[in-house]
Amino acid sequence: MEKRGGTPSPSPRSTEKSGKDLTRSGDANGGAGAGGNATPKGDKEKGVNVQVILRCRPLSDDETKGNTPVVISCNERRREVAATQVIANKQIDRTFAFDKVFGPSSKQKDLFEQSISPIVHEVLEGYNCTIFAYGQTGTGKTYTMEGGGTRKAKSGELPTDAGVIPRSVRQIFDILEAQCAEYSMKVTFLELYNEEITDLLAPDEPRFPVLPVPEDKNKKPIALMEDGKGGVFVRGLEEEVVYSAGEIYKILDKGSAKRRTAETLLNKQSSRSHSIFSITIHIKELTHESEEMIKIGKLNLVDLAGSENISRSGARDGRAREAGEINKSLLTLGRVINALVEHSGHVPYRDSKLTRLLRDSLGGKTKTCIIATISPSVYCLEETLSTLDYAHRAKNIRNKPE
Ligand code: ADP
Ligand code: MG
Repeated sequence: MEKRGGTPSPSPRSTEKSGKDLTRSGDANGGAGAGGNATPKGDKEKGVNVQVILRCRPLSDDETKGNTPVVISCNERRREVAATQVIANKQIDRTFAFDKVFGPSSKQKDLFEQSISPIVHEVLEGYNCTIFAYGQTGTGKTYTMEGGGTRKAKSGELPTDAGVIPRSVRQIFDILEAQCAEYSMKVTFLELYNEEITDLLAPDEPRFPVLPVPEDKNKKPIALMEDGKGGVFVRGLEEEVVYSAGEIYKILDKGSAKRRTAETLLNKQSSRSHSIFSITIHIKELTHESEEMIKIGKLNLVDLAGSENISRSGARDGRAREAGEINKSLLTLGRVINALVEHSGHVPYRDSKLTRLLRDSLGGKTKTCIIATISPSVYCLEETLSTLDYAHRAKNIRNKPE
């Protein structure tokens, strides 16, 4: 029933390309150190690669019942993923190496502790960090970022399936409180759909009115503005100042609920929208000379639209504008990544709202981590290979964190 890649090393039938992939990533791994976390000294001189983590979800109960063949095998120790393809009766294994690989039985806690926790520490050192979830719809992007089930936790404990966002929030507060630091924190939560920004923290109002309603005088327009320093900001975005982890969980629940409502109203919109949750932390510190210094760190947590939208819906007519606009951000993200990898002079950041918003997170002054999610099922193989290729390419981007 299951077809597995067998030996973890590339099979003799491996294509030449996958062989090259491995060599290249081997170099990158060696240079960046375990998990791609280069030493701060190395950062300044050479910049750091975008860290790419691969996570494969388990088969769902239905898939297991239906005896869905598995075509992905993960070797966490070697940080490799093999995909088995049968073309013209020949078995072809392609192996990809990443900074970290989490197989189907990996736990939320382990992914966080091994890969995300070091990033949260850097945010508290005053770095800007961005974590993307990238992959086909249904492969576990939202599960990885937000987590499954309810966020109700007994006695302040996080549930075992809590994802990256609540765990990061918890860690930030735990560290700041242990340090007795003087700090303030702001969060924003927005959604990008069809090149339009929606504020998931805005006070309640019908977000997607079925009937057109007269323009609400109190409704703040949401627009992307240039700040004149090469960056952008979102005008009219609700910024909530928060004082405890509990408050952020409430805010998150509110935002996620809004996203889910929209999903049912708009026919699975969430597979085509990006959500960006950002935490900005100001920490007051005293230097050795007793001067006050403010450290500012920012963490962006991005749940991207389903990657299948890049390869397919672009070809559909009819709702072409919609499809085109939806794809624009994800497509541009791909082009930006390509331009950065190939060091071509022009990087088309300005071509989409997502890349404008996250400009500093890609090839800029931010530390970036991509969590690519895949399904083990044979029925997803084509998308899985495209995700593996995309994620692998992204490994070669270098950022210069400041
Ligand atoms: P996406 O956001 O990429 O569309 P979801 O996060 O909604 O995908 O995941 C689809 C389904 O698979 C959900 O029911 C989710 O709970 C489940 N799932 C995803 N990843 C895992 C995992 N690593 N372990 C257990 N269940 C998972
Ligand atoms: Mg999702």
